[in-house]
Amino acid sequence: MTAGTNKLVNVGRSTYIHYGHAQDFGYDGDKGPSHWGEQYNSCTGKHQSPININSLDVKKVNLPPLVFQGFDVAPRETNLTNNGHTVVVTMESEVTPTVSGGPLSGVYEYSQLHFHWGDNDTFGSEDMIDNHRFPMELHIVFYKQEYKNARTALNFPDGLTVLAFFYEIAPEDNPMYQEFIELLGNVTGSHLSERFETPPSLKDLIAKDLLHYYTYDGSLTTPPCSEVVTWIDFKEPILLSHAQVQAFRALEDEEGHPLTHNFRPVQPLGDRVVLYNTDELIKEVDLDEEHPAEPEGVDTNKIDTPKSDETISSPKDPSLRKHPRNAASSPIMNRWSVLGALLALVWTVFSCSDRC
Ligand SMILES: [Zn+2]
Repeated sequence: MTAGTNKLVNVGRSTYIHYGHAQDFGYDGDKGPSHWGEQYNSCTGKHQSPININSLDVKKVNLPPLVFQGFDVAPRETNLTNNGHTVVVTMESEVTPTVSGGPLSGVYEYSQLHFHWGDNDTFGSEDMIDNHRFPMELHIVFYKQEYKNARTALNFPDGLTVLAFFYEIAPEDNPMYQEFIELLGNVTGSHLSERFETPPSLKDLIAKDLLHYYTYDGSLTTPPCSEVVTWIDFKEPILLSHAQVQAFRALEDEEGHPLTHNFRPVQPLGDRVVLYNTDELIKEVDLDEEHPAEPEGVDTNKIDTPKSDETISSPKDPSLRKHPRNAASSPIMNRWSVLGALLALVWTVFSCSDRC
């Protein structure tokens, strides 16, 4: 992710709120990633991003559902800005989107979204999966609500979360990105902004499967490289055509050169463990076995046991947010809670298009 801009109050030339003096960096030569540590100590830290995620070396978990609010609300105003490092989307909305649940403790509020890409379709994403780079990556940046703004949140290890989505090339244009791509042509020069005629909701821009994701603790992927980010990398990619991705490569940096690539090389994983949120554990349970009477003394405060359709909670049900973080992966999980988890997950999949 990039810390180039925070919430834009008045979009236009030189109206960015910077996180300190982190604008003097680039992706090549003297300003390139291998030199960032000379000016920004954190860039040489032990918990940096991006990383390569080895899918055979992740810890599979069933985290509580992520809770997305305001993702389906079209903002009142949305602006697109070329900040010389990437293109940043900021929005003014009646309902500021928030995310909570999953690996997160507390509520995180939308700050901005931006992109990372490469010179051609064979690379461009920052995180890699099994040494594979995708052609582009979306970072939706949120700061922890209690820290009031993204700049202050940089001082806390749990200050930010980034929802990351990979892109893959499809034969057809993605219609949800049509206006976005058109506006890119108007912000080719650094520090130019454009306003959306029809602001998209966040839901319009992201993938549908929000259940399967990798998560780990890392950093900003641009200076000052602060190690304050809970990364949530969704498995399902977003599809764009080659021409749509190509439009990003026409943007120019602050020196007027084509911004053909803006991804940082992967950093050592170190002592970190990457979690993978999955429903796979459920498959290990024999659901055909006769259900015993619910034993007394078993902790049923993990996932509510559904006794009828009415009791199957949506992931957005606030009651689910009270559950402990790793409840579903507890070794004492009983069959009833497993059945509850299965039904809740099925509900998630089939209701996601309306609710997420
Ligand atoms: Zn980024």
